[in-house]
Amino acid sequence: MPTIGNQQIKLLERLCNAIAISGDEGEVRAIVLEEIKGHVDEVRVDALGNVLAVKKGTGKKTLRVMLSAHMDEVGFMLVADDGEGLFRFELVGGIDIRQLPGKAVLIGRDHVPGVIGARPIHLTSREERQEKIPLDTLRIDTGPGNSKVKPGDRGTFATRFQQSGPSLMAKSLDDRLGVVTLIELIKHAPAGIDLQAAFTVQEEIGLRGAKVATYAFNPDIGIALDATPANDLPSWDGLENNTYNTKLGLGPAIYIADSGILSDPRLVRWLVETADSRKIPYQFRQPGGGRNDAGAMHLAQAGIPSVSVSVPHRYSHTAISVARLEDWKNSLALLQAALTRLTPELLASERA
Ligand SMILES: [Zn+2]
Repeated sequence: MPTIGNQQIKLLERLCNAIAISGDEGEVRAIVLEEIKGHVDEVRVDALGNVLAVKKGTGKKTLRVMLSAHMDEVGFMLVADDGEGLFRFELVGGIDIRQLPGKAVLIGRDHVPGVIGARPIHLTSREERQEKIPLDTLRIDTGPGNSKVKPGDRGTFATRFQQSGPSLMAKSLDDRLGVVTLIELIKHAPAGIDLQAAFTVQEEIGLRGAKVATYAFNPDIGIALDATPANDLPSWDGLENNTYNTKLGLGPAIYIADSGILSDPRLVRWLVETADSRKIPYQFRQPGGGRNDAGAMHLAQAGIPSVSVSVPHRYSHTAISVARLEDWKNSLALLQAALTRLTPELLASERA
């Protein structure tokens, strides 16, 4: 049985401490290839850098189920060298500019340390401190004499993974949680399906890797394994927050809809029935902004029934986010149980 234990948490730590900004996913890709080696029937890296692996089922009529987890994370790209180790940069993926000033970062393959400088309080006026800081006034400061850093290099927040009791705190839990989940599912693949695993690239800049991966696999079903934002803190005014989209601790988030897809109702039903019968907690991810690989998968080829199961986490796309170990475990348990009972009849059933 697939499990989340010390070994999987160690792997998550390694993956979260790696840097894989969209378009430059090599560091995570190397770990993925090493982990799945010997556990799949086929594996290749496609033209965009997706890792596409297949674990064949043993049944007579097996459904081809594509499971995707994106390897990339949001971050920065250096675009100009201003000298003295100061670099202008652009954002890669959705990051709130207010998150940037005063943060430690790591740049390039060698993880060269840098700082996104912030002007100290001593040197700013009260009025200035109320104002927005435009991105083009910010610089990444690596200090002079760093010949290893150059325009084109990617970087991200210099956050180290940590576990604190039931909580996981790291950068890029979105989507390294999904990556480890998919590796576990490959290692313990249900025999009744052909598992088509896609470790995708460039999800954060428009689901680009998933687009070509789905075209290549042409699966019967697509499932995106991802992390989804939790907005579950109390309102500042002390009232109950009733606009959350997921809450920590309530289990895996099953998507009914997001801004990229209306999930296939048969797949939603199948997941819910599985969770109910196995007493696995779950929640519906409330519709709203954001999208993931399922948004690309369902529009590939002649259309692929798709859905997403995601682990809720707070503070997505910031320097550090927080998830609960139990939600992650339950996500894996739900997927494993659902895939084990999956038959071709599901797709023959009524949609509504
Ligand atoms: Zn994601």
